[in-house]
Amino acid sequence: MTAVDKRLFGTVDGADVYEYIITSDKLTVAVCNLGATVTKIIVPTAKGNIDVALCYENPEQLLTLSDYNGATVGRCANRISGGRFTLHGNEYTLFCNDNANHLHGGKRGYDKRLFEAREVSCGVEMRLFDKDGEEGYCGNVDFSVTFTVDGGALLIEYRAKSDKDTVFNVTNHSYFNLNGQDDGCISDNLLQINADGYLPVDEGLIPLGQVQSVEGTPMDFRRAKPIGQDLNADFTQLKIAGGYDHCYCLSGSFAAKAYSPKTGITMDVFTDRKGLQFYSGNFLKGNKGKSVYPKHSGFCLETQNYPNAINTAEYCRQSLLPKDQNFYSKTTYAFYAADLQ
Ligand code: BGC
Repeated sequence: MTAVDKRLFGTVDGADVYEYIITSDKLTVAVCNLGATVTKIIVPTAKGNIDVALCYENPEQLLTLSDYNGATVGRCANRISGGRFTLHGNEYTLFCNDNANHLHGGKRGYDKRLFEAREVSCGVEMRLFDKDGEEGYCGNVDFSVTFTVDGGALLIEYRAKSDKDTVFNVTNHSYFNLNGQDDGCISDNLLQINADGYLPVDEGLIPLGQVQSVEGTPMDFRRAKPIGQDLNADFTQLKIAGGYDHCYCLSGSFAAKAYSPKTGITMDVFTDRKGLQFYSGNFLKGNKGKSVYPKHSGFCLETQNYPNAINTAEYCRQSLLPKDQNFYSKTTYAFYAADLQ
């Protein structure tokens, strides 16, 4: 049995923002309609309830402190090189909010927009009409994301339809710490990623293009290892990004598994996307300015297409959303807790 409750989360520009609390006997997930943001993921364990998602308490904090914590990120997650792409001979210019590049949908990406929420069986649907021209993108996109809880699993389903050919690549930007959201460091969280290859990046964190084997490098997560084991290794790709901030090229629908020896909580990630951005919270800044969470206090496993795909000859089709085509994609984050003594 899954129940859905609703509470006032705060206001934005005079509009009420609600948090929807979805509860089963194995998991509680809270989602608010500002940015269709996952605000809590609470796993019951023998040691008590543990919130494993780093997030904030009200809309104001989300708008001022958040580094996309828990948010739905779009219209295009990740970076688009130079904030430009060409489609059918037309060049589109996007807002560059990450030095010379476009990141996570621009100045007012999906994470900053108010969604229309509707309770559905075992969860909530959040809907957004993303207008032609917003942030420089072409085509009106009718977008919705549905969050449902089934036992210990959080299912996130994305649906979209555009009235013009466009680019589209959405994800969820939850930061996890399976020790608990306020535990401070993720280095002892174990992680396994089902990928033989990843995309090395340039100084601006744009993929260079070729898939590189993880074999014999600190990028190899094919066998579970603590995130901290190689985090500070003397390896150019880790130096460039200040840790892990790379797209892994997935070998199948099982994407990743994470585990905390401290709480006994396991998280399995499944997706129909080809890429998984593993980000080790390198730009979290602690109490300096944005974010109250310190560096490396959470990790993201963002299921998505290859970043900047539209500007590559090989992968450009991945992020194309043809006119009138129904887009559907699903990612599952499944949690379970071992019995602790
Ligand atoms: C990106 C990081 C970026 C972060 C912002 C991640 O998805 O990979 O490079 O700094 O989002 O929160």
